[in-house]
Amino acid sequence: MAIATIDPRSGETLATFPPYDDQRVQSCLAKAAEAFDSYRTIPLDHRSRLLRGAADLLAADREAVARTMTTEMGKPVGQARAEVDKCVKAMHWFADRSPDLLADDMPQAEDVADSGAHGVRVRFRPLGVVLAVMPWNFPLWQVIRCAAPALMAGDTVLLKHASNVPQTAQLLQDLFTRADYPDGCFQSLLVSADQVAGVIRDDRVAAVSLTGSESAGRAVAAVAGEQLKKCVLELGGSDPFLVLPSADLAAAVETAVRARVQNNGQSCIAAKRFIVHIDVFEEFESAFVAGMRRLDVGDPFLERTDIGPLATEQGRTEVEAQVDDARDKGAHVLCGGRRPPEQPNGWYYEPTVLTEIDPAMRVHHEEVFGPVATLYRVADLAQAVTAANDTPYGLSSNAWTRDPTEQGVLARELQAGAVYFNGTTVSHPAFPFGGIRRSGYGRELDGLGLREFTNPTTLWYG
Ligand code: NAP
Repeated sequence: MAIATIDPRSGETLATFPPYDDQRVQSCLAKAAEAFDSYRTIPLDHRSRLLRGAADLLAADREAVARTMTTEMGKPVGQARAEVDKCVKAMHWFADRSPDLLADDMPQAEDVADSGAHGVRVRFRPLGVVLAVMPWNFPLWQVIRCAAPALMAGDTVLLKHASNVPQTAQLLQDLFTRADYPDGCFQSLLVSADQVAGVIRDDRVAAVSLTGSESAGRAVAAVAGEQLKKCVLELGGSDPFLVLPSADLAAAVETAVRARVQNNGQSCIAAKRFIVHIDVFEEFESAFVAGMRRLDVGDPFLERTDIGPLATEQGRTEVEAQVDDARDKGAHVLCGGRRPPEQPNGWYYEPTVLTEIDPAMRVHHEEVFGPVATLYRVADLAQAVTAANDTPYGLSSNAWTRDPTEQGVLARELQAGAVYFNGTTVSHPAFPFGGIRRSGYGRELDGLGLREFTNPTTLWYG
């Protein structure tokens, strides 16, 4: 794929960027390694000051950054502004909390004595150069979610961003440079996907973090495995959204619509499969379909727009193929299921609800990365759990019930990295984020994410 900004509203190529050649990649690698040698020794309060400075610069650039993201990948501009705000908040959170979260762990005195030591402590030392391979869907957030903790831990970061968001990648590099980070601490590598393996294999790279699709995850993890390098994978999801009879139905419907179409339906943690108890199914279905129909599909720069174009032509082709496959195999299309006739240009797709899903359909077991919901009817809690877990993914999950016994069962049984009760998944810097099964492994955010790219070193004093 060419490294280019292509307007998803029209398909027009706005700017192209030649990929770095090997010599330039080598020079970035050398700079990142050299920067690590000194940056790793910088005290934590200094690292916090640098990150706060970058956060303040980002906040000041809010509108320009938001508009760049919308230009490159089509998210409604209001959501792009919210993404900037979320990044600023996370940067401050890591700047404030990292000193505590990275403080030495002190084992229990009896264990220290039992080991024959006078003292033992575990120090979270930085690991080295971290390669961040990132997707276009939250082009700022995904990078900050990886880079802010890595920089606080004392690592340096090389960003390989998705090929369709090169200007967002550049502004991120400029941001850290303007914030006075030492040269080489954060660099964008404009490289294609097939140059990534060579970068991972380079001895100067210590670890890799990938957020993206399952196929990219497999490719990156294979090379990291061959090189025995630490790897964190944040991959796709097909999160369930359970609605049980005790739910506040109006709130559940309103949240369900928002959860499915956020970011034009292209979010890993979007609720994608709606699993509804038979007692409330009809009511939920009609209100949900009405809510999806009411959404405004159009130019993402207009404030009133709920759903902009999909980010890439290939992405829309894939969603169309998945919906057509379901329709051909007997699914009912309750709304949408086509390109909006009033938007003949660009990569728009109507908000869509499908029912009568069966396991032979692609939408049943694949992630659908667009504004398409699948609706399932279940007879009881046990069926709801079985349906929720009937997916190769396990990123997050959502469950609407006010019954504490049901909540207890779901907290135990839902196979995912999170269960959100009476709400929908929204990541927060203070809570670990990540999945199981084909949604990947490792965690981001929280102390767990902060420590992923450290070397927890046992210091034993005899
Ligand atoms: P993608 O095609 O996998 O791309 C993600 C990144 O990986 C891009 O930088 C891409 O570069 C690179 N890449 C692709 N194939 C590669 C390969 N074989 N070797 C090395 N690098 C490779 O994913 P996307 O379309 O940008 O994003 C959508 C996917 O990301 C969805 O599945 C979504 O669920 C997932 N996602 C997960 C999370 C999470 O936190 N779990 C968050 C957001 C998105 P190019 O652009 O140059 O191909």
